[in-house]
Amino acid sequence: MAELIFVLLSVAALFTLAMNRASLRVWALGVALFTLALQIGLGSGHPHVPVFNFWALLGWLFAGGLFALTFPRIKRDYVVLPAYRALKGVMPAISDTEREALEAGTVGWDAELFSGTPDWARLRRVNPIMLSAEERAFLDGPTEELCRKLNDWLIRHELHDVPGDIWRLVCDRGFLGMLISKEHGGLGFTAQAQSLVLGKISSRSPDGVTIVMVPNSLGPGELIEKYGTEMQKAYYLPRLARGEEIPCFALTGPFSGSDAASMRDVGVVTKGWHEGEETLGIKLTWEKRYITLAPNATLLGLAFRLFDPDNLLGRGDDVGITLALIPTNHPGVEIGRRHLPCGAAFPNGPTSGTNVFVPIDWIIGGKERAGQGWRMLMNCLAAGRSISLPATSAAAAKSLLRNTTAYVRIRKQFNLPIGYMEGVEEPLARMVENAYGLEAARAVTASMVSAGEKPAVISALLKYMSTDRMRQCVNDALDIHGGRGICDGPSNYIQGAYQMVPVGITVEGANILTRTLITFAQGALRSHPYLFTEIEALQNPDQDLGVPTLERAFDGHVAYSLSNIFAALFHNLTLGAFASAPPSAGAARRWWKQLARASRSFALVSDATVALLGSGLKVRQKITGRMADALAELYLLSCILKRYEDDGCPRGDLKFVNYCAKNCLSRFDGALAGTLDNFPLAWVGVLMRPLVFPYGFARRPALDKDGKSIVRAALQPGEVRDRLTRDIFITDDPKDPVGLLEHTLLKVIATEEADKKLERAIRRGEVHRYYGNDWIAEAEKKGVITAEEAAALAEVRDLTARVIAVDHFEAAALARKQSAPQTMPGAFNPPRDSIAAE
Ligand SMILES: Cc1cc2nc3c(=O)[nH]c(=O)nc-3n(C[C@H](O)[C@H](O)[C@H](O)COP(=O)(O)OP(=O)(O)OC[C@H]3O[C@@H](n4cnc5c(N)ncnc54)[C@H](O)[C@@H]3O)c2cc1C
Repeated sequence: MAELIFVLLSVAALFTLAMNRASLRVWALGVALFTLALQIGLGSGHPHVPVFNFWALLGWLFAGGLFALTFPRIKRDYVVLPAYRALKGVMPAISDTEREALEAGTVGWDAELFSGTPDWARLRRVNPIMLSAEERAFLDGPTEELCRKLNDWLIRHELHDVPGDIWRLVCDRGFLGMLISKEHGGLGFTAQAQSLVLGKISSRSPDGVTIVMVPNSLGPGELIEKYGTEMQKAYYLPRLARGEEIPCFALTGPFSGSDAASMRDVGVVTKGWHEGEETLGIKLTWEKRYITLAPNATLLGLAFRLFDPDNLLGRGDDVGITLALIPTNHPGVEIGRRHLPCGAAFPNGPTSGTNVFVPIDWIIGGKERAGQGWRMLMNCLAAGRSISLPATSAAAAKSLLRNTTAYVRIRKQFNLPIGYMEGVEEPLARMVENAYGLEAARAVTASMVSAGEKPAVISALLKYMSTDRMRQCVNDALDIHGGRGICDGPSNYIQGAYQMVPVGITVEGANILTRTLITFAQGALRSHPYLFTEIEALQNPDQDLGVPTLERAFDGHVAYSLSNIFAALFHNLTLGAFASAPPSAGAARRWWKQLARASRSFALVSDATVALLGSGLKVRQKITGRMADALAELYLLSCILKRYEDDGCPRGDLKFVNYCAKNCLSRFDGALAGTLDNFPLAWVGVLMRPLVFPYGFARRPALDKDGKSIVRAALQPGEVRDRLTRDIFITDDPKDPVGLLEHTLLKVIATEEADKKLERAIRRGEVHRYYGNDWIAEAEKKGVITAEEAAALAEVRDLTARVIAVDHFEAAALARKQSAPQTMPGAFNPPRDSIAAE
């Protein structure tokens, strides 16, 4: 018994010291006491005079070693310097553009998740959705009006363009100036308001939202607002806000896509003639492609690398990436041709120019900002990427859910609404989960940006996660609708989203790159409490400066790693029972605890990953991709718990929280298990597995019965379904394809009992459902249903026929016009460098 108590106390002491990040001195004391206790036989229950044996010698040596390390000189000579030399070539090198990307934006809740001990108060401080009266009125007024006017089929098929009246409305009502401050004639809306406006428009027309989205993100209103000279602000911002200027922003070129900083577009500082005067300026040569709004733009924001061979700016030859504003009617600007991105109709096309002279004060921010373009872009990207694509992805998830839940109650096969079939229930449950989770992540992140954060890592993970889940939602909706979703036409309400999915996946950092290269590597560097300092120390060419910096980080890092090892093991052994949860967490308390437990496991594995992979981090992308997924699941779960609280913990929503939380944690465990199973140093994976999965298995996803429960709730019109699909465009106008769904759904539900009577009579052979026979009238005549029920069922029958109808066309209406091709295949439009090579 005494032995057992001794062992338990020793283990408890070990865990306590490690989890509380005890100092070296305390560790040395702890080891000394333990050794002494062994020597006097405390553990046996029969204390005796100290005996000195091999184990005692080992214990005292260890305690002495730890104590010696508390002397800075010894620690430096025997630990820090050897570590410095060993790690110097192993840690990832950081290039200038990477450094600028790393220094741009802010670190917030992501750092808490990386820490393993998230401070709940920090998440709770993020405001719930709050709109000013003016913002609410804009959402309910002009946004609603725009949505009613948008005709998705007309835009994406018939005109293959956004019509003039939509452009006019968008410009006149100030949609293009939501982010421009009031002072400069814009609406000055918060990120939350912008996100809700964009989401609502996109639920009506993905092409329609694009013309609003671009001017309200990078291009280039935000850049002018943040970095422009007073003259640029005074001239351009009011014109942009009123829609007198249509902007676009050109970064991507044929040879510089994901690696945008490698652009070949150049500007050379020189003197030239502008409006009859000799002026200091830049001779620009560029070739850009995929530029949204370029064909309609009047103002081109251009990124290029600036050189100053004559040192006219006094900053040396290679000034760096620079951004300029160029009116598209400026001589030499080639712009106007269009790409055809996935058949979508929003304007998108290439632009180029050769030796185009522009005055130096066309640089955004003037010549003082020459060379700062990359930093400016990264700063704006961190905020912009948190708004647009999460908003449109969440809106797609919500509107697809709303339409699909109506359709599956209306559409019957095998005499049953297809929504009650388990096979359909499965993708529907996924749609419910995605709609709940994406809205949570959208709202929480937009609130962070409203509060002034520019979350660089969160925006990256949210971008790839939200667009990927939007793709899942569209595919699920299509599978569920069958042929009704596939055949295009004015009544098809899925195709628009389907066509736009690849665009969302590709823009603002293509998903594969964002997931595997950006999210985890950047997150680890920015959020790890010590890593960035250590890398900076190792990169410092002056060893005398590098070593003391490394030394300062070293102690903390060792304590941090030890605490992760022991805390992860402790919380995984106790299944999170003792993990922290915020006060008054209510019914969702267990998920907060599981989040804290998972965060500890994540901290442990990510620490080992960055420490052991070092510079290999950039190439071990299957590992970093999984770690990004793990972080994304933690973030998503945080937002789900926050949303539940912000919404006032509605009882009806707890089932959604439970469902989402189980799946988040199961996917999280899967991502960590995948990392450990495939860890490049196999022994590390083997050693860490018992710490993360001491019982050998990962958490399981939500059960089928949980899926049934959330789907049944979503199928029922009312408060819960409305909350699941909030802030999208909703109509019950039967002349509108989605309005027809809403309209019919209520009537289908109202006639369910009468329908059952009718179906039973048909099965008995009493009533005959064939073309040419009015079976409802027959049922009424035979007393199966009343006259009132017959009238209601007849109306539902006619409405249902309209809901399930697909469009068809005269063959001639679909035939392509036979004319000489205006657009040559890409091989016949070679990029500039190929021309030069010829
Ligand atoms: C419809 C549309 C609108 C756009 N609008 C604009 C705009 O307004 N302005 C603008 O400047 N640009 C715009 N873009 C460009 C967009 O940002 C780029 O397409 C994107 O950056 C990817 O570049 P890329 O298409 O050349 O693909 P590539 O860079 O050739 O990438 C191909 C694939 O390789 C992956 N990949 C590349 N490098 C890595 C790596 N290191 N690690 C892992 N995977 C990697 C990518 O994820 C991608 O899957 C638009 C693009 C489209 C299609």
